[in-house]
Amino acid sequence: MMTDLEGVCGVLGFDQWAVPEGRYYDEAKRLLTLEVNAAIEGFCAAGATEIDVIDGHGHGGINQLLLDRRAGYLRGPWPGPYPLMMDESYDVMAFVGQHAKAGTPCAHMAHTGMFSVLDYEVNGLSVGEYGLYTMCGETMGIRTIFGSGDEAFAQEAQALTPGVETVSVKRGINPGSGDECSAEGYRQKNNGARHMHPERARELIRAGAEQALRRFAEAPETFAAIGMRPPYRKVVKYRSVGANPAYTLIRENERCLIELLNTYT
Ligand SMILES: [Zn+2]
Repeated sequence: MMTDLEGVCGVLGFDQWAVPEGRYYDEAKRLLTLEVNAAIEGFCAAGATEIDVIDGHGHGGINQLLLDRRAGYLRGPWPGPYPLMMDESYDVMAFVGQHAKAGTPCAHMAHTGMFSVLDYEVNGLSVGEYGLYTMCGETMGIRTIFGSGDEAFAQEAQALTPGVETVSVKRGINPGSGDECSAEGYRQKNNGARHMHPERARELIRAGAEQALRRFAEAPETFAAIGMRPPYRKVVKYRSVGANPAYTLIRENERCLIELLNTYT
């Protein structure tokens, strides 16, 4: 289970919630961990025998003491960052607390890795963190079956991998792509949202996770893959950061997607 902090119900903004200096950072970690526990409940009800939770938020997003004791907890540093501690031993992948990709209108705290990324394309397909990790999983035979986060994220996931079970826990209210913003400006742009009650969000996550795994066990073909094929080419457009101007990074790899994603120079 991939986890992130910005797509959690009740996590209201970036600076006060998603970084250790923020006043509500510990509360944000608690809210994420309770959403993760709800998903674990659902997966276990559907027959899951082993679950590992990957702490994917940069500064950490899980309160391990609150985490359901049936799950393992994975936290780096690790080589990469891709594929973020995944390996071929897993059958399926799920996302909890995920946000939409950079440039998505009405998406709460949207970004792709960092707020400095304007757009990230692989073989001409614009993707966010969901797409990047799902592609990594696919190269190892892992299928993504569930994702929870804000409404724009849920729409992004369904468009990329039709059939994936999604749960929307909040809806961003700031229109516009923000493509004109610097990295700093974009970090401040999408902090507005309409949230449901966090307990309601957990009920939906529990039910959605159970439904996802039951359906996967019965009809795995109802979950589509992105289906990216080699050779691979990535085009990453960056915003201006302070005095540094915007630029574009283009890299190619004949056969290995994960190697390509880990290439930054
Ligand atoms: Zn993220």
